[in-house]
Amino acid sequence: MNKILSDTAEIMHNAVSLEPEQSSRDEFSTDRELPVDLSFLNTLSGNFYWSWHDECASLFRDIDPGLWYTCEQNPRLFLRDLSEIRIWEKAADHDYLERIRKIEEEFLKYTAVDPTEHGAIDSANPVAYFCAEYGIHNSLPIYSGGLGILAGDHLKSASDLNIPFVGVGLMYRFGYFRQNISHDGWQEEHYADAFESERALEPVLDENGERLMIRLTMRGREVCVRVWLARVGRISLYLLDTSTPENDPVDRYITGHLYGGDSETRIVQELVLGIGGVRVLRALGIEPSVFHLNEGHSAFLTLELARESLLADPSSSFVDAMAAVRDKCVFTTHTPVDAGNDTFEPQVLKDCFGSEYLDSLKLPPESFFELGRTDPEDETEWFGMTPLAIRMSRSANGVSKKHGEVSRELWRGMFPVETAAESVPITSVTNGVHAPTWIDPLLKDVYVKHIGPDWMEVLRDRERWNAAVDQIPDKEIWRAHSVAKNLLISLIREKTLRKNTGDEHTINEHRKTTGLFDPEVLTIGFARRIAAYKRWNLIMSDLERLLKMVDDEARPVQFVFAGKAHPQDRKAKRILRELLTINHDSSWQQRAVFLAGYDQQIARHLVRGVDVWMNVPRRPLEASGTSGQKVAMNGGLNFSVLDGWWIEGYDGENGFKIGPRENPENLSDDELDKLDADSLYGVLENEIIPMFYEKNQEGLPARWIARMKSSIKSLTHQFSSDRMVSDYLRDIYLK
Ligand SMILES: *Cc1c(COP(=O)(O)O)cnc(C)c1O
Repeated sequence: MNKILSDTAEIMHNAVSLEPEQSSRDEFSTDRELPVDLSFLNTLSGNFYWSWHDECASLFRDIDPGLWYTCEQNPRLFLRDLSEIRIWEKAADHDYLERIRKIEEEFLKYTAVDPTEHGAIDSANPVAYFCAEYGIHNSLPIYSGGLGILAGDHLKSASDLNIPFVGVGLMYRFGYFRQNISHDGWQEEHYADAFESERALEPVLDENGERLMIRLTMRGREVCVRVWLARVGRISLYLLDTSTPENDPVDRYITGHLYGGDSETRIVQELVLGIGGVRVLRALGIEPSVFHLNEGHSAFLTLELARESLLADPSSSFVDAMAAVRDKCVFTTHTPVDAGNDTFEPQVLKDCFGSEYLDSLKLPPESFFELGRTDPEDETEWFGMTPLAIRMSRSANGVSKKHGEVSRELWRGMFPVETAAESVPITSVTNGVHAPTWIDPLLKDVYVKHIGPDWMEVLRDRERWNAAVDQIPDKEIWRAHSVAKNLLISLIREKTLRKNTGDEHTINEHRKTTGLFDPEVLTIGFARRIAAYKRWNLIMSDLERLLKMVDDEARPVQFVFAGKAHPQDRKAKRILRELLTINHDSSWQQRAVFLAGYDQQIARHLVRGVDVWMNVPRRPLEASGTSGQKVAMNGGLNFSVLDGWWIEGYDGENGFKIGPRENPENLSDDELDKLDADSLYGVLENEIIPMFYEKNQEGLPARWIARMKSSIKSLTHQFSSDRMVSDYLRDIYLK
């Protein structure tokens, strides 16, 4: 058995032996009993609408801020654990009741409207969005990183724009791993059972009021799939779950871990998502006019649509069915490297599907496998989900202009040899982020004050937004930023306070954290997955030069790091350990921290509170990147290699660039790293640090604030998910 397989077997074994008679959670919907005037809190806790309306979040938090923090901002858990006395205090608080009443009115207004029709897209025929992960809020831990957060933001904007839309995904019982750092700086993983806590999920029932159950046959066994509903504003997100007692114990773990299994587990997960997802929509009477495959994981849905079409018209062939499927499906690719795309060994794939299913496609076995190859003739090629998705969709797109270009080159082999790279039919829609989710509440107040309560509307119009932001006084932007920065520093002190390590020489746990970090000091954030191409080690490549900046008495720099390494990626874990164990005679221990367990909560604080956001991917491997977009709309300045979205975003005034515009030819990776590291240190020393510490008579860094405003002006509209979803609607869904 190879390494990955044996690790997985261990995970499965541990999980199974932990709970031989696996308990099944049937529902989460027991509401807390509340005084009638507070009962709306139950409704609100059941719709993630609250998560992007700050006044809703504070409605919960203000009842018991300490509990809100320990509950990790999970309102269902919070309401369950709330003390009676707190509840009745609020029931007797006139101002509080007035706040609830107002919010309830807004909420009802928001959720009551019918979705806006767009051509063939209407309530009965919505866009159905399929994705393997969703990052809506940290209280629903079914995401690992960028792809999931993007999907969450896509749903929220579809809701705000009132587009007829449903989401389909998987309910991973154990989610993605939680990160622990051991004494010696080595990453350890553990998994929490999502069913042991409260979640904002409702069981989906059939017309008889029974639990909706759909079935599919995989690996020769029938597997039952039940469904949970997560409400995301006006949007329904259906999450499929195999952990029911009807299933064989092994099958209960199909929706166990996100990206945790071996290749066979991946196949069956993707069968549940693609085929199961279509069946769930049918059972609910939803007839999507567009299926959006967000990344290749859900591409098996195209086969299910083909099978349906063949059943409906027995005289038709697979080629006919394929035309009908292509008409309905659109595909977004997210990976600029070959190895990042799922491929499966044909025999394993065949065993998972079973011959009955494959026969129903009316394809000779060899033609079936050709659907998943870049070159159909090449019998040694494994079955790829991206080639399948590209073949079966009427549209394919990358997630930034550059990534579109890279994808056309990467998948050129699928098209006739005479096809020039620029004629490969892969377009691009650049990613964006959901402004109300990511913008700091205090900054939103500044927008309300100076732009108006309809600032979100103004934001949709680029010209109006630019003019409006110009009117905001420097002082107010700076004040909002300072508060967010202080809040970030408090979080850093809280999270790094020593728990159990005996080693004082790492930057993730400290005996005392009161002197850690200084709100006056230039703060640079660097948080992302730890993968080779993200080049975590670039900043460490000249330690002496780095520490000289950190130690500077007059103009020091401090760094906050966060991110996870894939459990099987030992090389990435070594890079992390190297960073965590830098131990020099310097102020590094007080001016650098690593926050374990990077998730949406940590991300919210980071993107709002840092002065500078650094990103140094190896070009052109950052398909888009979105964390820098969140920072930009909070007035933080991006300091990044020109790759992914930053190629489109950078204008010379709204942040900083690292390295040249294009990689010089004929340089090795090592030489490119050296070049970029040199540029990184140079820009820090000569531009960023001097500009940040240059104050005017009022004590404000005027030149710096001008850049912050320029960032907010030029990047918020362009990289908002409202812009992104509008682009999808106009250029992809309606085309
Ligand atoms: C935004 C976000 C990401 C994606 O950021 P990248 O720029 O793609 O690295 C990953 N994780 C979390 C928690 C995020 O909020």
